Amino acid sequence: MKKILLEMKKMIDAKQTNKLTMLGEVEKEGSPFKILISTILSSRTKDDTTYKASNRLFNEYKNPKELAQAKVPDIKKLIKPVAFYKIKAKKIKQVAEIIYKEYDSKVPKEMEQLLELPLVGRKTANCVLVYGFREPAIPVDVHVHRISNRLGLVETGIPEETEIELEKITSKKYWIHVNEYFVRFGQLICKPINPSCQECKFQDTCKYFTK
Ligand code: SF4
Repeated sequence: MKKILLEMKKMIDAKQTNKLTMLGEVEKEGSPFKILISTILSSRTKDDTTYKASNRLFNEYKNPKELAQAKVPDIKKLIKPVAFYKIKAKKIKQVAEIIYKEYDSKVPKEMEQLLELPLVGRKTANCVLVYGFREPAIPVDVHVHRISNRLGLVETGIPEETEIELEKITSKKYWIHVNEYFVRFGQLICKPINPSCQECKFQDTCKYFTK
């Protein structure tokens, strides 16, 4: 995995863009709560749309207490047009209430506790661990799942299986880098449709590559 991450980094650097992933940008603010809410908002939504919606929301409600006390219609207005914004508005208010009341406004660091929160599955919980706390984890989103299968690193049908298989073949010290590199590589080069295979260094090993 180390070699793959290094090759990805070279290809990403060659694109000469400093743009990080949405969560990479949010991480700079050092707020696990914003990472948690932004990841929930990001489901089925483009990064740019999520990032703008998250910033509008957090400009208005800066912490779990403020978001817990917000009115759902006001939250809806701020996060629209993220996908499923109506249900997400209700659920992120509930998440904020739980974090405020049960965890003294601090996002829990334990996977089991994170998974008990509304709309939080393994990908979101792992994103909180990596981008919120810099703890080793492998969040598997559509990019990580697609590229891992294209490269033949795994042969899996669902992201949960991909996570398990990637953990087996990746030294724990590299887990924290997998999501950021795979997502950026997936956005810039190995796109879902019409990947830029001609500029890719994985042509020889990729199962998906066709001349
Ligand atoms: S060769 Fe094409 S499909 Fe394979 S990893 Fe590279 S960009 Fe993706």
